[in-house]
Amino acid sequence: MGNILEKLTILSDAAKYDASCSSSGSKRANHNKGLGDATGMGICHSYTEDGRCVSLLKILLTNHCIYDCAYCVSRRSNDVKRAGFTVEEVVDLTINFYRRNYIEGLFLSSGIFKSADNTMERLVRVAKTLRTTHNFNGYIHLKAIPGASPELLHEAGLYADRLSVNIEIPSEMNLKKVAPEKNYTDIITPMNYLTEEKFRYTDDKKHFKKTPLFLPAGQSTQLIVGATSENDHQILQLADNLYNTQKLKRVYYSGYVPIKTDNRVPLLSAPPLIRENRIYQADWLLRFYKFGVGDIVNDQYPNLDLEVDPKVSYALRNPHLFPVDINHADYEMILRIPGVGVKSAQKIVSSRIHQRLHMDHLQQMGVALKRARYFIQCPGAPVQRKDLQMHDLRQLLIADKTVQKTQMSLFG
Ligand code: SF4
Repeated sequence: MGNILEKLTILSDAAKYDASCSSSGSKRANHNKGLGDATGMGICHSYTEDGRCVSLLKILLTNHCIYDCAYCVSRRSNDVKRAGFTVEEVVDLTINFYRRNYIEGLFLSSGIFKSADNTMERLVRVAKTLRTTHNFNGYIHLKAIPGASPELLHEAGLYADRLSVNIEIPSEMNLKKVAPEKNYTDIITPMNYLTEEKFRYTDDKKHFKKTPLFLPAGQSTQLIVGATSENDHQILQLADNLYNTQKLKRVYYSGYVPIKTDNRVPLLSAPPLIRENRIYQADWLLRFYKFGVGDIVNDQYPNLDLEVDPKVSYALRNPHLFPVDINHADYEMILRIPGVGVKSAQKIVSSRIHQRLHMDHLQQMGVALKRARYFIQCPGAPVQRKDLQMHDLRQLLIADKTVQKTQMSLFG
């Protein structure tokens, strides 16, 4: 057991760098005979297709790797303690944790042992044993190894709920610089294959009831932000293409964590977390707010504003579109008002049929008036100060977050 614990410590720690399954690392000891404890043993949380939050055992099968990707803690030239589970060990751990109610599923990633197929075959064997020998019905998310053969990917799709082929570096040119043994073809080919198979199974299901499930929770991928020189425009353009062409369920963005000096990647003092957060916000606008990539970032503004969120930034760059008349504007335009979420936009459109809306209604609907008030027009809305330039408004909104108590009055 000591050996397993040691492996678990090493391989759950190494797995935390993979954001393609959301995680929440936590360490909390049990004091005074309290209830439970949180350890660094790789239990993380993720969301299933139907929105349920599930806790997963998040580990690597191995952190041995034949490749030497500069941004990765498991790269072969990095001097770290190595370990590897057998298929049976991962199956036993999963079943034991599941029986004790610690987890509701497994997220299994891996370094590359001998070859892509050799590693993929072991990952598939874990999922297959869990499903067929132990009748395990929990959630399984597997990493699909770039370059793995279609037969193995097909089997993986039959046993796993979700697969992620991680792109990691958002442009092929930079991938060559930091991971010379990898190439985009090896990454995109399995992604294409899984997308096509998923379509085929979904179509078959319409005609043949007994068609088995194939990747019911779809595919995701991860992009690393800040290890290479891509701007936010390139990153979001790639993500948008993946959503449209591959129908990916999620693109995860991971602020590059500087691991140990490797002169192929920048020496950062801290991960670019604000940038990562802004990219997530922009991704949200693409998926739920009907924004196009060009609305958020473009040749003129290739990077997101780190001081205000992307929706505020859009409004400040497009003063001719604001203020928006709450009682008459299209749903799409209502969605673009900073501080108005999807639910409140829907409420605005459905309730203005019956009555003319004013500020109080918006507050009841959950609109964040602190931001929205600068960009809306309706009875009771503050009169816009004509001399106020967007630059000043930007300063005000930034100050709003930090020096709220001393905020000057905008409307006189
Ligand atoms: S192939 Fe994967 S595990 Fe291996 S060094 Fe590259 S990123 Fe790390």
